Parts: sequence; structure tokens; C-alpha cells
Amino acid sequence: MLSHLERQSASDTKKRIAIGGIWHETNTFASGKSDYSAFETYQLAKRDELIRRYRGSNTELGGFIGHAETSRFQLVPTLFAAAVPSGIIEHQTAMKLCHELIDTIHNAGSLDAIFLSLHGAAIAEEIDDLDGFILERLRSIFGPQIPIVITIDYHANVTEKMVRHASVIIGYDTYPHVDMAERGEEAAQVAARILETNQVPHCSFKRIPLITSPLNQQTDKEPMRGIFQLLHEIEEWPQILCGTVAMGFPYCDVDHLGASVLVYGTEPTMTEKAVNSLSNRIWAKRKSFTPEVVSVKEGIRQAVNAESFPVVVVEAADNIGGGSAGDATDVLAELIRIQAKGSVMLIADPEAVQKAISSGVGRRTALKIGGKSDRFHGSPVEIFVTVRSVSDGEYVHKGSYMTGYVSSMGKSAVVDADGITIVLTSRRSMPFDAEQLRCVGIEPQKQKIITVKSAIAWKAAYGDIAKQTIVVDSSGVCPIDLSKLQYHSRPKPLFPLDG
Ligand SMILES: [Zn+2]
Repeated sequence: MLSHLERQSASDTKKRIAIGGIWHETNTFASGKSDYSAFETYQLAKRDELIRRYRGSNTELGGFIGHAETSRFQLVPTLFAAAVPSGIIEHQTAMKLCHELIDTIHNAGSLDAIFLSLHGAAIAEEIDDLDGFILERLRSIFGPQIPIVITIDYHANVTEKMVRHASVIIGYDTYPHVDMAERGEEAAQVAARILETNQVPHCSFKRIPLITSPLNQQTDKEPMRGIFQLLHEIEEWPQILCGTVAMGFPYCDVDHLGASVLVYGTEPTMTEKAVNSLSNRIWAKRKSFTPEVVSVKEGIRQAVNAESFPVVVVEAADNIGGGSAGDATDVLAELIRIQAKGSVMLIADPEAVQKAISSGVGRRTALKIGGKSDRFHGSPVEIFVTVRSVSDGEYVHKGSYMTGYVSSMGKSAVVDADGITIVLTSRRSMPFDAEQLRCVGIEPQKQKIITVKSAIAWKAAYGDIAKQTIVVDSSGVCPIDLSKLQYHSRPKPLFPLDG
């Protein structure tokens, strides 16, 4: 029998929770494969380094760590690896990362729970649901009792396997994504509740045969604003714990492609009612997800003739955050053709960076810029430029996306083509924070035209200063019109592809 003191110390024992994850949004239409270096050069942290790197940042791990450090959790950091969205993950890389994550968790000693930051649209060469694969392996090692709580992106293509093996799945509530730390904190609260009550909530999960361009999925605009209002109302219903709306990532050719909703709670009739309400609402709004776009030529004409600046020209098809190469040239070629002075754009082109660096700052040189990744991103643009500066391309996020995190564009060069500023970067770099331009000496507010290779997430950087937004129908592997993609494995029927 335990004495009073022994009971006290047993209840004070901290709960040991392993944390980690593998995060990748895989674009199966992108050329090239994502290898281990794609993770090493973006985000790869092991053991204590994981805590040091993410503590205090606006990331899922940052939120989870913040909550844990003020509660009775003892964190066991394992591995977190993320790559900038890109092509299919090479088999060896997927196996290496999964082994590193799973083995470290397995060898961590006795655990009370596991928290993982996943994406929900990770695809490897031989595993089309890498997120589900990781969860299934952990469940088979640890058995049915241990709580496994995970966070996923709003663009997850959620599978039955993920739902079956995770105790609770929590998705972002925002697009542009700015609530990562909040969701990580929510995951910590949910894990604490499961550990306290010893009760795993019931899940109702429903897939919606719908796939949409990211362009009309912004959560502070209709139709998503109303859908999230409904979700938040549902989360206040009795016996409901939490819910997620995942709009899916359309640039994946997999049989589990599409939007879905999940609701957790203690009473199955209530969770069922909740997922039906949400999925009915989303289905009823399915026709309002078609975005308005103009041709590149017309878009640039409108931008140049605007009355107030900056104007943001959106190259959504070359969305780096959606796995595109970031070197499409059709907008650059048009800016140069009509001499759109005062415009700025980034192009990922390590070869052009090297050439600019070897020419030297202040020198004029001929460059072939962009269009080198594959046949989907146009041809290189050949122009004379003046090299303005070169740098290591590092910056700290000061805006609302991953606040506090250090990003690197790799060696970068700013070149000027008669009033058109081109930032050449060695790495594909998502335009989600204004420091990306400021770190190379460009003040976004002073530009006439800022071109972004992004769909919506650029708003975390320039949404506040953009006087006008023009979405152009440009080239890349994230086309706005999804019927341009050659799917082979997607489910059927799927709106709007099958009417
Ligand atoms: Zn997303």
C-alpha cells in the first residue's frame, strides 16, 4: 500500500512524451525527387537541438514545447525533419528518416504519449501515405493504449490509416498558415486530457469528393470563413473535443486525394452529426472555389497601369510552397518585354547566382535566368544585368509565419535589369516573410510590383502592404486549373474534375 507521501510523489511524476515529426508536402507532378539533403538544408534537428531550435517559434513544435514547459510533461525530443514542398521523396531518404524517427522513439525508454508534427500529404517512392505509414509503425510498436497526438497541415490528404492509428489529429485553422504554435499547444492540451482521463476520444471522419485550387481557400474570406465559423461553433458543442477541416493538397496523384473533415468527442452520435454538418456545408459551397485569373500579359499590363503601389502579381502555378521549381520565367520575360521598372521578383537559380558572384558586385554581365528545372517552367531569359549585391541569403522570420525561425535562401545575388530587380537564390525559398527581401537590402513598401511564386501564403509577408493583387495564369506544376494535370491514381468522382 502506498503511503500518502509516496502517492503524492507518484502523482507528481512528470509524463514522458516523445516529440518529433517528418513534414513534407509532396507534389508528385514536380520533376526530381526529394533526397536527404532537401531535409538537411531546410529543417533537420535531432534530440536536444530540436528543443533549442523550436522553443518560442511559431511552429507546432514551438507551441507543444511551450505548453509542456509550464506543465507536468517531460519532453523526449527525437527527430524533426522538414523539406520545402517538392517532388516525391526518394525511397532511401524516406526509409532513413522513418528509421531515425521511429527507432529514436522506440529506444526512448518508457513513454506516456507521443506527439508528432506531420503534414498529411507526404508521399515517398514506394509509400503513397508516408504519414499513415509512420503512425502504423508506431502503433504496432507501442500498442493500442499509448496516446499518439499529431498535427497536420490544412492541405493534408487525410487517410483512413492516419485516422486509425493516431489518437487525435489536429489540423491548422488558418490559411495563410499562422496558427502553428496554437495548434501545437492545443495538441499538448489534448494529450494532457487523454492522460488525465485515460479516455481516447471517438473520431468521426468523412472524406469529401472535392479538390480545389488553394487560391480560394483563404480562411478569412468566404467560403472558408463561414466553414471555420461553423467548425468553431461545433467545437463548443457538448461532448465535442476538437475538429479539423483539411482541404487537401491537389498536386498529388494518389487514391486518397481530396478534402476531409474530422471531429473528436466522447459521444459518437454528436461527432457524426458534426462531420455531416461540416461536410454538407463544404459540399454546398463547392462551386465557389474557382478563382479569377488573367493571362500573364494582361496581368502585367494591369499592374504597370495601377494607381497605387505595391501591386502583388501572384504566380500561383510556380508556388514554391506547393512544390514548384521557383524558376518559371513567363512573368519575368513579360516584365522585361514591357520594361516594368520598379518591379522585383525572386528566381531560384544557383547557376545564375554563381555567375553573378564571379562577375562581381557593380559589374555588368550577361545571364541566362530561370527556366532550367524542367519543361514546365518556361525557357531561360537571356539578359544583361548589373550585379548589385551578393549575400548568404539568411534571415529571421519577423512576420506571422514561423516567427523567430531562421531561413536561408542559400547564396544569393541581387541583379538589376534596367529597373527590374531580380533576386537570384541558390535554394527554392518561399515568400512568406518580408525579411526575405529586406535581408538583401530591398524594402517591399517601396516597390511598384512584387511578384510572388505562391498562392495565398505570401499574404503573411505582403498582405498588409499590397494595394492590389493580380493572379496570373502562368506556368509551373501547381496550375490553378486542376484539369491541366494528368492524374492516374486519383479517386473518382472528384469535383470539379468529373463535374
Ligand atoms: Zn498548407
